[in-house]
Amino acid sequence: MATLKRGSRGAEVKTLQGKLNLMADGIFGPLTEEAVKEFQKRKGLKADGVVGSQTWAALGVVPSGRKVDEIILHYTATPEGEEFSNAQIKQSHLARGFSDIGYHYVIGLNGEVRPGRAEAIAGAHCKGHNTRSIGVCYVGGCPKRTTPNWRDIGKDTRTAAQRATLEKLVKELLKRYPGATVHGHYEFDNKPCPGFNVKTWLTQVGIKQ
Ligand SMILES: [Zn+2]
Repeated sequence: MATLKRGSRGAEVKTLQGKLNLMADGIFGPLTEEAVKEFQKRKGLKADGVVGSQTWAALGVVPSGRKVDEIILHYTATPEGEEFSNAQIKQSHLARGFSDIGYHYVIGLNGEVRPGRAEAIAGAHCKGHNTRSIGVCYVGGCPKRTTPNWRDIGKDTRTAAQRATLEKLVKELLKRYPGATVHGHYEFDNKPCPGFNVKTWLTQVGIKQ
């Protein structure tokens, strides 16, 4: 993570603001600076409002240097056509005892990428594979609510926008983690997640493994 201070902008500022429970607008302004100083004071750090390695570590966003060699795809297991926010996902993950939202990225119905955990931090999305992987999740994956036992059925409910974003995001991640392999959660656990055959999809979008 970069050193951030007043005037900084971008995704890492959003991560910082999320950690401090501020509105994540990605702009390090006076309110963010104030919250950083408060946090530093509370943690016994030098309250200078500058977010360097010690403050990142105190926030639980340590640059781990972990080696990522897998990208694992998921669904939210929610009904087709219904939006599900990162706050809702986080709430359900906290209820399961995770420290934060388990995924690194969530793709909303409109194709928007919503960051979850920082990539430097291991996720909580696939038992036995968390330390070595990035978890990507799209909203949906089950049939409509009117379907009996919809919760038990995996279905490829990806919208056209979600398909396009998933392809773009996975290709970006593969550039960042060359040689990583892409998997469906079903390969490692007895569930239909993410509701489609990942190998077939990889061939369709021209990703060779
Ligand atoms: Zn899954």
